[in-house]
Amino acid sequence: MKPAPILQVDGLTRDFVMSRNLFGKPTHKLRAVDDVSFSIMPGETLGLVGESGSGKSTTGRLVLRLDDPTEGQVRFEGQEITGLRGPALRPVRKKLQVVFQDPYSSLNPRMRVGESVGEPLSNHGVVKSRAEQRDHVAELFRKVGLDPRFMDRFPHQFSGGQRQRIGIARAIALGPKLIVADEPITALDVSIQAQIINLFLDLQDQMGMAYLFIAHDLGMVRYLCHRVAVMLRGRIVEMGPTDQVFADPRHPYTRALISAAPIPDPDREAVRTRLSYEPTPPAPDAALREVSIGHWVLA
Ligand code: ADP
Ligand code: MG
Repeated sequence: MKPAPILQVDGLTRDFVMSRNLFGKPTHKLRAVDDVSFSIMPGETLGLVGESGSGKSTTGRLVLRLDDPTEGQVRFEGQEITGLRGPALRPVRKKLQVVFQDPYSSLNPRMRVGESVGEPLSNHGVVKSRAEQRDHVAELFRKVGLDPRFMDRFPHQFSGGQRQRIGIARAIALGPKLIVADEPITALDVSIQAQIINLFLDLQDQMGMAYLFIAHDLGMVRYLCHRVAVMLRGRIVEMGPTDQVFADPRHPYTRALISAAPIPDPDREAVRTRLSYEPTPPAPDAALREVSIGHWVLA
C-alpha cells in the first residue's frame, strides 16, 4: 500500500480584495494563490521557491490555518482542516508548527527565551510543573545547539542565528509532524545560513518530521529538499524531485532561478551566466503536465 501524505492541498486559491465600490462590492481582486495543489509525505521536505510576491507566504499561512482559502482544501494526516477553527484546531496545532523568517518578531521581547520555548509545553499540558518544564526546555536547547544556561536571557541578548535556533526549539517542542519554515535563513548572515540548514537536516534525521521549506532562491534548497515546487504569480509552474528539476529544468522561470544560484565551484561559477525571464501570462488552459515520473510542468 502506498503510504499516505502528511499534508495534501488541493486547488488552493486565495483572493485579496484590493478595492471596493460605494456599495462595498469588490471591484479589484488580487489572486495571490491560484489553484495550488501539492502533497508532502511523512519525513519529506518540499521546497517552495519563487520571487517575492509570488504567493509563497500566503500558501504557508493557508496550510497553517492562519488564513482561509477562497477555494480549495487542506488535508493534514488525511483530515480536512480547511474549516476548522478554535478548539477544533488544537490537536492539529500540536503537530503542525511554524518557523518564521524573523525570529525577533516572532519571540516576545519581554519574555525569557526559555519561557517562550516552554510555553507550548504547558499550553498543551505536556509538562506538569515548572521544574519539569525547565528540564524539557534545557533538552530542547541542547537539541538545537544552544547552551541551556542561556534560557533565562531575553531575545535581544542573542545573535540572529541563535534567535533562529530558539524559534526552531519552540517549533519542535511538541514533536510536530510538519513544520512550515517561511524563509527561515533569509535574514541571516550567509556564514550562518549553512549552520541553520544543517540543523534542519539533523533534526529531521532525529525526529522524522516533514518540512514545507519556503525560500526565494534555489541556493540552499538543493541541499535540504527532496522535492521542489517553483511558484510564479500565485501558481506552481514546475514541481519535481530536486535532482530532476536541477538537471532538467523545463519551465523558463525555473531555468532563470537556477542560473541565478551561485555554484560552489570557482571554475563553473566564473562562467555562470544569468538567464533573464520575462513572464508571459500562462495560456488559459495551462495545467501541470507530468514530463517524467513526479516531474510536473505548467504548460
Ligand atoms: P511571497 O511570500 O511569495 O513574497 P506573499 O504570499 O506574501 O508572497 O504575497 C503574494 C501577493 O499577495 C503579493 O502581491 C502580496 O502583496 C499580496 N498579499 C499578501 N497578503 C496580503 C493581504 N493580507 N492583503 C492584501 N494583499 C496581500
Ligand atoms: Mg513571503
